[in-house]
This record gives sequence, structure tokens and C-alpha cells, in this order.
Amino acid sequence: MTIVVAGGAGFLGSHLVDAHVKAGDHVVVLDNFSTGNRKNLIEAEASGKVEVIDGDVARDVPSIDHVRIVYNLASPASPPGYLVRPFDTLAVGSEGTRRLLDLARENQARFVMASTSEIYGDPDVHPQVEEYRGNVEATGPRSVYDEAKRFSEAMTAAYRRYYETDTAIIRIFNTYGPRLDKDDGRVVSNFIVQALADQPLTIYGKGLQTRSLCYIDDLIDGIMKVGQSHHPGPINLGNPDERTVLDIASAIIAAVGSSSSLEYRDLPADDPTRRCPDISKAKNILGWNPSVEFEVGIRRTIEYFRQTI
Ligand code: NAD
Ligand code: UDP
Repeated sequence: MTIVVAGGAGFLGSHLVDAHVKAGDHVVVLDNFSTGNRKNLIEAEASGKVEVIDGDVARDVPSIDHVRIVYNLASPASPPGYLVRPFDTLAVGSEGTRRLLDLARENQARFVMASTSEIYGDPDVHPQVEEYRGNVEATGPRSVYDEAKRFSEAMTAAYRRYYETDTAIIRIFNTYGPRLDKDDGRVVSNFIVQALADQPLTIYGKGLQTRSLCYIDDLIDGIMKVGQSHHPGPINLGNPDERTVLDIASAIIAAVGSSSSLEYRDLPADDPTRRCPDISKAKNILGWNPSVEFEVGIRRTIEYFRQTI
């Protein structure tokens, strides 16, 4: 049986591919390399168990037989990444999701939709439970991502309701670790790259906004558990260790041993004020609980950047 990972050349996708290769599965990666990198797949491809198909899933998804799970991780994910690709982001969330759902339906396969904490917008319920309907600006700059993901969720739910496809929706909260793209503008990669170069760390706004950062290995463990279950979700996957952006900056400066200062920049439009997952559902249903502490995960991530930049 085959596992399909759309977006498999990206940060999360390539780790998911590795996990399935390790489990002995045959994996097909569908990726257009818009924000992903073939280098992320070097070890997986060397196993001989991975086939990579270069193409835009919003335009075409090839016919593949004997598929057991289709994961849809294809989408730009960082704010700078989707803000420069507004139409591609909307297209992959809508047309791409539909084509991948068709592939799952044809194969009577499990379908896992990688949605996001951005579904909750700038939340006025804290921490965020799955029942919370969100506070999203439908026409703001971030809406190309938020609304694409909301559409993906609606499409996924419709396939379950009308075609009885075995679907799952996961809402992923900020994740970090090796293979983060050094140039895609996310907070952890920016701060590590800046700290390693003794450049000022760029704090957007006052840096008092919060994020809850999950280490990649924990997240992949959660995604694998969802793939193996038949639960529909939506289900939050993230680490509830909530920190301000200033706290993240000082932890990275200390871990690198850097002499970087802080440089304050404008806060991007609609930047959520705080974000923290309630993961009771993931704990109870999947028996999943992230275990890698920030100080440990950040050391491993810094080591990766030291070796690759
Ligand atoms: P990433 O940019 O590293 O990976 C996305 C991958 O999708 C890339 O390899 C890219 O080339 C590919 N892709 C984009 N559009 C495509 C298209 N039209 N056709 C084929 N391939 C396409 O991002 P990531 O951090 O690995 O995120 C993966 C998924 O998880 C995304 O859907 C993202 O929205 C979701 N997510 C990630 C996070 C996080 O913290 N990393 C948080 C919430 C949700
Ligand atoms: N951020 C920052 N400096 C940076 C990059 C990001 O202060 O160089 C902030 C950003 O404004 C947001 C948080 O860090 O409040 C997380 O940003 P990221 O782009 O990683 O993810 P988001 O959660 O916004 O999608």
C-alpha cells in the first residue's frame, strides 16, 4: 500500500515522509517545489521507497493505485510565503484539496487535511478549543491563507458527509525544528539566523504577542497517530507551552550565545495577539502529548542551522 504526501518536500512533509519510510511504507510525494526543497528528501529518496512527482496539485493530481493514506500538506505556510503567493495559496486550498480528496475517495483511503491554528484568527477564546469558531478577518491580507484553509476544512467535511470518505482535519499550531526554511520569514528561523550572525533580532510590534511552539518530532508523532485512527477531527496538534515573542528571542540569544540586540519593526496586519492550543482532544483520543521541551528542541534546531547555513 502507498502513502501519498502532498507537500512532501516541505518542512513538515519531509519529516512525515521519513516517518513513513521508517515504518516500511512506500511513499509518493506530490510537490511543485514552490516553497519546498528536494534536499529535504535526500535521505528518504536514498531508501528507494519514495517516488517524487513534480507538479501543482491545484492543476492536476495523477492517478495512483493502492493508496492507504493521502496527507494534504501542500500550501505555502509562512506569512511572507503566502502573502507573495495569494492566488496560488487560494488555489491549492480549494482546487488542490478537492483533487486530493478525489484521490482518497477513489482509493477508499484515509485523507488527512493539514489545517491550521489560523482558523481561529485573533482568538477571543483562550486557549483555543476545537469548538471555538474563530475571529477571522475575511478580506485582510492573511485571509488568502485563513480562508483557503477554512474552505479546505469545509470541503473535507463535505466529502465525509456526502461520500463517506474517511477524512480527518488537524489544526496545526506553530511548529519548529530542522529543515525550517532559513528564508521563509518565520519567527524561529529568522531569530536563529539573526542570532548566529550576531545581527539584531527583528521584533514585530512590541513582541508581547504569544505563540506556542511545538517541536517537529512531537508533531509528526501526532500526525502519524491521526493517520492511523479513523477520527474525523478537527483536532488541535501543538504544544501548549505559550511564550511571548520577546521570550522566544531571549531564549534563542541565550542558546546561541549571541551578542545580538533587538530591533523593533511594525506589527504585520492582523497578526494574532495570542495563540495556545487546548490539546485535551488529542490527549484523550490519540493518547498524544508533546514531550520535547523548548530548550531541548531549540538547541537541536540551532545545531541544524549551524551546519546548513
Ligand atoms: P512548507 O512551505 O515547508 O511546505 C509546504 C510544501 O507544499 C512545500 O514543499 C511546497 O513546495 C508544497 N506546495 C505548495 N503549493 C503546492 C502546490 N500547489 N502543489 C504541490 N505542492 C505544493 O510548509 P510547512 O511548514 O511544511 O507546512 C506544511 C503544511 O502544514 C501547510 O499546509 C501548512 O499550512 C500547514 N501548517 C504548518 C504549520 C507550521 O508551523 N509549520 C502550522 C500550521 C499549519
Ligand atoms: N515575528 C517577529 N519577528 C520575525 C518573525 C516573526 O516578531 O522576524 C512574530 C510575528 O509577528 C508573529 C510571531 O512572531 O507574531 C510568529 O510569526 P510566524 O511568522 O512564525 O508565524 P505566525 O504564527 O504569525 O503564522
